[in-house]
Parts: sequence; C-alpha cells; structure tokens
Amino acid sequence: MTTGFIGTAEATGTRRVRIVIVGGGFSGIGMAIRLRQQRIDDFVILERATDVGGTWRDNSYPGCACDVQSTLYSFSFAPNPEWSRVFSPQPEIWAYLRRCVAQHDLAKHFVFGEDVRGTAWNDDTQQWTVTTTASQWRASILVMANGPLSDPVLPTLPGLDTFTGHVFHSARWDHAYDLRGKRVAVIGTGASAIQFVPKIQPLVSQLSLFQRTPPWIMPRHDNAIPAWQKTLYRTVPATQRATRAALYAMREVMFLPFRHAAVARLAQHGALRHLRAQVSDPALRAMLTPTYTLGCKRVLLSDDYYPAVTRPNVSVVTEAIASVRADGVVTADGHTHAVDAIIFGTGFRATDPPAAPFVFGRSGASLADTWRGSPSAYMGTTEADFPNLFFLLGPNTGLGHSSVMLMVEAQIEHVLGVLALMQQRDAGAIEPRADAQSRYVSWLHEQLAATVWNSGGCKSWYLDGTGRNSTLWPFTVTRFRKTVARPIVADYRLSPKRTTAVTGGSDV
Ligand code: NAP
Repeated sequence: MTTGFIGTAEATGTRRVRIVIVGGGFSGIGMAIRLRQQRIDDFVILERATDVGGTWRDNSYPGCACDVQSTLYSFSFAPNPEWSRVFSPQPEIWAYLRRCVAQHDLAKHFVFGEDVRGTAWNDDTQQWTVTTTASQWRASILVMANGPLSDPVLPTLPGLDTFTGHVFHSARWDHAYDLRGKRVAVIGTGASAIQFVPKIQPLVSQLSLFQRTPPWIMPRHDNAIPAWQKTLYRTVPATQRATRAALYAMREVMFLPFRHAAVARLAQHGALRHLRAQVSDPALRAMLTPTYTLGCKRVLLSDDYYPAVTRPNVSVVTEAIASVRADGVVTADGHTHAVDAIIFGTGFRATDPPAAPFVFGRSGASLADTWRGSPSAYMGTTEADFPNLFFLLGPNTGLGHSSVMLMVEAQIEHVLGVLALMQQRDAGAIEPRADAQSRYVSWLHEQLAATVWNSGGCKSWYLDGTGRNSTLWPFTVTRFRKTVARPIVADYRLSPKRTTAVTGGSDV
C-alpha cells in the first residue's frame, strides 16, 4: 500500500528511487525530515506496519513512558512545547511522531505494509535491490532505520505451547484481554515490566512476578509541566532550547558511573535508600537487592514499582522457571504457579538483528555472515563491503545515560555529510575502508573493557551471544557527536559512477 508515488517504475514493476529508508519509527522519521530540509525528496520509507511510530507505536502496554525527559527525547529540529509531563507517556510520544510526519509533509514518502525480506547490492548498477513482502525497489542509498528494539523475544520455555491460558509479550499488549480478577504471571523485571506491573497489580487477583535478576531502581521525579511553562516554550522557543541544553549537560555528568565503578558504587547508596524507603519487609528487600554493580544493566526509574510489589496480591518468584504446563508455570523446586495468563516482559532482539541475514553486500556475504553473532560497524553507521548502506542506531550507538535521539541526530548528519561528499566527488558508491573500520572497532572494544557494562558482574542484553558488547557507545554523547560529525574522507573508499549505473528519480 502506498500513500503517494515517489520515484519511477521499471517495466518489471520494480520501483526506482534514490534513497530507501527501512523503518518509520523515530530514526526513519528524523532522517526523512533532515532529507527534506536539504531539499532531497527522492526517497521512500518502507514500513512493515500500517502506521508510523516504530517501537513507540508497538509498545502500548499500560504505563509505557520514556525514562528520558521528553524535551531531550525528541528532535532538536522538531521541538514540542506541548509535552504534558517531564517524562511523557507513550501515546504522547507516538502522537509527536505522527505530528512530525504531518508537519514535514512526509506522508507521501511512506509506503506501508512492506516488510523487507531481502536487500542485495549490485556493483555493476551501483544499486540496492530491496525486496519486500509487497514489492521490489531499486535505490542508490539504503538507510536501515529499523531499530534495535523492534522485535520482541519470547523465551523458549519447555511446555509453553501446552499452556491453555492467555499469552502475550509486553511489546504486543493484548488490550482486548481483560486482566480483571485474573491470576497473572509476569516474566521479567526490566524497563518494560517495572512500568506495567504497578498498572496491572490493582486489577488482577494474583500476580506472580518471575524475577531472574533484580534491577537497580532510582526515584523517577516525574511532574506535569504547568501551562505557563508550555506557553513560555511556545512563545519563546529559546527557553525550551535552554532546558534541553541543561538536561543534556546534566545527563552527560550521569555518564560517570558507567566508566568509574567507584562512582557507580556511590550511586548505589541512593538506589538502596529508595528501596529501603519503599519496602519495609527485610526478606522482600533482600530479594529485590541487586548483587552486581549499578549501571551494568539499564538503571531504571520508578516511584510506583516497589510499592506495587509489596501489595498482598503480588508474589516475587526468584526460583528459576523450569517449564510451563497447561495450568501454569513450574519452577525448579517443582512448584506449579497456577495462572490464567502469562505476560512476557522479556525484551528484544537487540544483538541479533532480524534483518542481518537478508542484507547482502558486494561480495555476496550477508550482514549475518559478516558479523558472525557480533554486530559491528564503522562509527555505528557504515560497513565495509556494503556500499551506500547506512545504519541509524546501528552497532555500539546505544547509551546508558542519555537520549539516544542525540545519537540518531549525529548519525543523520554523518549520512548527509557522506551524501554531500559523494556528490562533490561524483561518486557512485562509498563504503568505509576495511582497515579503518577494523581500527575503529578494535579501539571501541578496548574502551568498552573499562566500562561497568562489561565488568560490572551481570549478564545483560548489551552483550551479544559471543560475550561482546555490540550495543553501547563507551563515552559521552558529546564525544560521539565530535567523532561522527564530519566523515573522515581518508577512512572512506569512493568509487566513481559507473556508466551502467541507473539512478533513481534524480541523481545521487
Ligand atoms: P529487558 O530490559 O531486556 O528485560 C527483560 C527481562 O526479562 C529481564 O528482567 C530478564 O532477566 C527477563 N528475562 C529474559 N528472559 C528470561 C527468561 N528466559 N526467564 C526469566 N526471565 C527472563 O527488556 P525490556 O524491559 O523490554 O527493556 C528493553 C529495553 O527497552 C530497555 O533496556 C530500554 O533500553 C528499552 N525500554 C525503554 C523504556 C523507556 O522508558 N524509555 C521502557 C521500556 C523499555 P535478566 O535480567 O536476568 O536477563
């Protein structure tokens, strides 16, 4: 389904366009806005769903909100003076993204219902062929904006298929299922679960909370933004920019614990005080106390999770899950926790990107073949042997301390810089030199070794199947912005335009 037609059609029905963006979430929308601001219009955004918004469309579980202040978790080039709260809830974030699409006239660039199933680079035509469940595209430039937190993980628990109750994942919340009066198992105690547990606890008759590892939790300090402040932001936009700058600076300081274990241990005192203030039962408190260094897993913010867990209808189960049977969840001690529904808050395929086996580079190898279980990229954005391919929020661009939207913006500027370089040099293809990429990746992993994520004594989704941290950036946002600001020409290999190359509706 397409909302407008961009590009040209070949006789075969394959459509040609200059740039294909895969994914219409935060990153894809940001890329599209900046392309339009550069007067580049020959692009489409292929979106597998039927609406924009990505993970902020799909995660509609009760209590879903961002744990980074909205004024910082939004685009600098699309400020929103109307945020209702410091940490705005999911419906508002999704509405913000839909408004960005409308205000920047992006609807005509969206093609919905197109799940990308294969992309291959052709070195003769210097183009990507992108095959989706609905059609085929050819493009000079491919931007993967499909998000690291878009595909949920359901653990393979023995017997799960025999369970006769209701099952769903928090990222695909079943709003039609009435939880009132039900006995519910929640599996997982990560960022998602700690937001929906307090919302469902008053509804259910019994909540069995299966906790494998307790998270570190800090007070949230959320507030409604008063009307006068919104008016101020609306009428004097510089005031909201000043707030954003202050939040940016404050969060840069919050990076310290991730590099310095001594600072992390100091911060633990604050988190333990929060736990003591909210949980009086020493046995329950002991269950909820982490044994790894703060920051090793994502630090969570909540004022209502601990109080919910202390309610009489909640039991925290720390015994490992052995299996599932028709009527409930069986733990390693042989006990069956009889339930009507199981809700998985078990996270996403962040280090095992579902698209990796379907993206084929110049030599015919896929990203999955190249990465062999451990994604890596030059500056998290480009990949040797995969010309004209860009990742937004690619390998090692995640953060523990600030807004990833700042990282996305920096990457978008890098992409625009590379496109400009191609134009200046009349190049048909560009990719990082293999030695430059390998130098960058080695340096990155040396730096990561000193961080709490690698050495804090926990096992988190930041580490991939090989044990390497392929998700996070080991410095401040400022350092990333400086690193990727302008493409280092010597690190890139440019190929002249081939005469056989066919471009999209307009030239590269
Ligand atoms: P997550 O942080 O990966 O948490 C998954 C939870 O499920 C963990 O408690 C994990 O235990 C548990 N788990 C996984 N497999 C299990 C199994 N087989 N048996 C028992 N327990 C199992 O996932 P998430 O909560 O969905 O959050 C993922 C990321 O999304 C966050 O880190 C954050 O970046 C983002 N997020 C952000 C917000 C926000 O406010 N901005 C909100 C939600 C999510 P272990 O800890 O032992 O592995």
